[in-house]
Amino acid sequence: MENRVPDLFGSMVFHEHVMKERLPKSTYKTMCKVMQEGKRLDKEVADIVANAMKDWAVEKGATHFTHWFQPMTGITAEKHDSFIAPAGDGQIIMEFSGKELIQGEPDASSFPNGGLRATFEARGYTAWDPTSFAFIKDDTLCIPTAFYSYGGQALDKKTPLLRSMEAFNKQAMRIMRVFGDTETTRVNTTVGSEQEYFLIDKALYLQRKDLVYCGRTLFGAKPPKGQELDDHYFGAIKPKVKAFMSDLNIELWKLGILSKTEHNEVAPAQHELAPVFTTVNIACDHNQVTMEVMKKVADKHGLVCLLHEKPFDGVNGSGKHNNWSISTDKGVNLLEPGDSPVENTRFLLFLVALIKAVDEYQDMLRISVASAGNDHRLGANEAPPAIVSMFVGEDLQEVLTSIESGAEYAGKDREMMKVGVHVLPRFFKDTTDRNRTSPFAFTGNKFEFRMLGSAVSIACPNFILNTIVAEELAQFADQLEVAENFPTAVNELIRKTVTEHKRIIFNGNNYSDEWVVEAEERGLLNLRTTVDALPYYVTEKNISAFTKHGVLTEEEIHSRYEILVENYIKVVHIEALTMLELAKKSILPAVSSYVKELAETISLKRQIAATINCRSEESLAMELSELCADFMDKMGSLEECLAKAHGSADGQAEAEFYKDGVIPAMADLRAIADKMEEEVGEKYWPFPTYGELLFSVL
Ligand code: ADP
Ligand code: MG
Repeated sequence: MENRVPDLFGSMVFHEHVMKERLPKSTYKTMCKVMQEGKRLDKEVADIVANAMKDWAVEKGATHFTHWFQPMTGITAEKHDSFIAPAGDGQIIMEFSGKELIQGEPDASSFPNGGLRATFEARGYTAWDPTSFAFIKDDTLCIPTAFYSYGGQALDKKTPLLRSMEAFNKQAMRIMRVFGDTETTRVNTTVGSEQEYFLIDKALYLQRKDLVYCGRTLFGAKPPKGQELDDHYFGAIKPKVKAFMSDLNIELWKLGILSKTEHNEVAPAQHELAPVFTTVNIACDHNQVTMEVMKKVADKHGLVCLLHEKPFDGVNGSGKHNNWSISTDKGVNLLEPGDSPVENTRFLLFLVALIKAVDEYQDMLRISVASAGNDHRLGANEAPPAIVSMFVGEDLQEVLTSIESGAEYAGKDREMMKVGVHVLPRFFKDTTDRNRTSPFAFTGNKFEFRMLGSAVSIACPNFILNTIVAEELAQFADQLEVAENFPTAVNELIRKTVTEHKRIIFNGNNYSDEWVVEAEERGLLNLRTTVDALPYYVTEKNISAFTKHGVLTEEEIHSRYEILVENYIKVVHIEALTMLELAKKSILPAVSSYVKELAETISLKRQIAATINCRSEESLAMELSELCADFMDKMGSLEECLAKAHGSADGQAEAEFYKDGVIPAMADLRAIADKMEEEVGEKYWPFPTYGELLFSVL
């Protein structure tokens, strides 16, 4: 098997080496230029490439092609067309033109657009992103594309990401040049996203309407055992899970996805997959495909892969750690301290740009991970809190402190750092100093943004990160390009930035109550929920930064804000309806039949002797009847609340109502159901319990 991996890897991808093999030399050269420099492809070249792609795909068994895109639903979309074309004599030929490769026009009127398209111009267009390779999935040649409206507005997650890469490159290149670098021609951001997920038994899943409709359980009493023994984390992988992981790896490798690390996570039935990092737009495509393939492979194994941020109460939810760094086309990681004073100063400048960006755009980073599902994680004692802060570790903290005070740095390894010369000791890379509670942690040569929920597309957090850092680099470049004395100017800039933005750095325990108080004293935002965070999207500060760098237009920002608000409302609404359905059709009837059984038992027992002891049956029947009555009341309250919440003209006000009215009413209803579950006989309970769901896979 091991021997096959290199052959298998990327076998379903129309990769550079396939192009080299199959395209005429001059076409291949043009394609390389297109991929590296983002040049447009002319029609003749496109025809040649399309034909070669089609031949390759048909040899691999593909019958269809699709423009694969990432609309605002957060998942991917595709509409398949077959390659067949009539050949005139009742036969067909397989055809694929350059035009079909470059542009598509899906009838896309049903994708969320936040008011960007009137129905009369409901056309959407897809355009090939040649920087991301075409691949074959389920006998279909998938062309990665961007999706936009007739007026050119972005309707997807990918377009702003691609735009942000250009903005980042432009500003980072200005910084490279002021440091005298003349060789670097491109600066990209790189991402490795660790993906957490749950695996549960499919037969049990199908009996839980809450999981089927909402992806998470809406009822469920805590089982006697949860994650308290820490016996699952990094534990031996069970055979059924191992078989799933092996199959998953093969499918991902075929698609050129660098699936690297797999292990059990903290909660029972929870696991993680981490890929090797790559350029951000590819990382984004790969993460989308990974999530999709996980679900498909799980199904083949009689399992269901849950990607929801919080499928179960009382055990950890699932996140997605977004490891983010900066890399030049010469392979230099700009978030890694270098060997020379110049490299170290450059490292510190990029570092303080990040510190400033995270401080000034706390709100945007919070928004980038905001969803109804992730609200159940952030702020609970498992994920980072809703407060955005940054961890740099003890060593780097000492360096920053000495820069600020102008004192000499006397680090651990006794190598002195003179402020102004910036000789940094090379210890950061192997730092063992890790803080797993921080939302944004420096880990030696990259930052790990840990607030992402497992289900989110990484496009949004990354286009936001790219843009806010590009903005700070632009401000720095504006100053440094005209500085009379560069070394003095750059050192002063670093010092000033540390002083002004150090409040965002917190190296302590982010889960503690003291931090919440301290963060407030520092003036940091604590946007607890999605509804609290979203209005910041459309503030002047944020509109100005995102429009300035050409990442989003003002219209696009408003549309995205509206889509997020709308999505929040819809998700909570569906959950509330699902709860009511389960309450009425499953839970109440179940409890009722148990009470009936108890009542019948009492009356049968009394036939034996009128004085027989029926205390247990009586007290249980009494208690459950009381609970049922309460349960009915709470159902009524939730129904009332829903009726009031729905259909308000102002989206933000409606979302607030869902947050402050509907969600608490749902929690009240659940509390009673969970209590009843603990009292009702096992065979009466209408769906699988937490214990069964979490410990079903062997
Ligand atoms: P951890 O201790 O969090 O498991 P690892 O070093 O194993 O840290 O890396 C976790 C993730 O970070 C992996 O997906 C890895 O590919 C990614 N990563 C490593 N270096 C970089 C980088 N320079 N840019 C982006 N991601 C990176
Ligand atoms: Mg990690």
